[in-house]
Amino acid sequence: MRRPVIAANWKMHKTTGETRDFITQFVPLVEDVQDVEIVIAPPFTSLAVAAKFLKGSNVKLAAQNLFWEEKGAFTGEISPIMLRDVECEYVIVGHSERRQYFGETDETVNKRVRAAHQAGLKVILCIGETLEERESGKTFDVLKTQLSGGLKEIDAPDMLVIAYEPVWAIGTGKTATPEQAQEAHQFIREQLSGIYGAQEAQKIRILYGGSVKPENVASLMSQEDVDGGLVGGASLKPDSFAEIVKNAIKEA
Ligand code: PEP
Repeated sequence: MRRPVIAANWKMHKTTGETRDFITQFVPLVEDVQDVEIVIAPPFTSLAVAAKFLKGSNVKLAAQNLFWEEKGAFTGEISPIMLRDVECEYVIVGHSERRQYFGETDETVNKRVRAAHQAGLKVILCIGETLEERESGKTFDVLKTQLSGGLKEIDAPDMLVIAYEPVWAIGTGKTATPEQAQEAHQFIREQLSGIYGAQEAQKIRILYGGSVKPENVASLMSQEDVDGGLVGGASLKPDSFAEIVKNAIKEA
């Protein structure tokens, strides 16, 4: 069975002090959880303090983005090596907000995935359709293009987690139904199977993201191909995020 992952995407929230306060409250709430891999992605400025306060816990650290070069004249960018230096194990790549506001394309997403893997960082690759694309029947085409583009010549499926995040469900309070999520996740797994073979595809965790809350996570997780969640808004409070983690434990 695939081990579920619940990952917090804090986006542009929390100062270093707020990060420390969250972690000191959150870690004791989930210290007994073994059946879910827990990941937190604070903003860059909070990574070092998060690493310090997460030490020895069962919570892993992720960054929200990275640049593909190791070092050099790239003002404002952060390299894979810098993320390793502050003890990140994961990095989120291709979030829809990066695609929408910062011009990310499948090509630049692919460069980031490649650079992350080369540095030994696991990737949470985000894909998902807009409302317009869904309503015009293009969901599967979009998912297929984003997957094949983002994963071009990426040969380390064991370092990969996919997050299906329908753009219309992110931060809107509108969640995909469990059936809509399953349909997309099953399609994604079929595509992964085409790229990596059925056996590898069965091992890759596919997370759902888009208005995940303590109340809806269990019904989403009840679907066969939903292996966890990428959580924005509801990950900002320790109680609510801990409840999501606990409610995500799959029935055997
Ligand atoms: C996200 O940012 O990845 C996300 C899913 O946000 P929210 O949970 O707030 O919809």
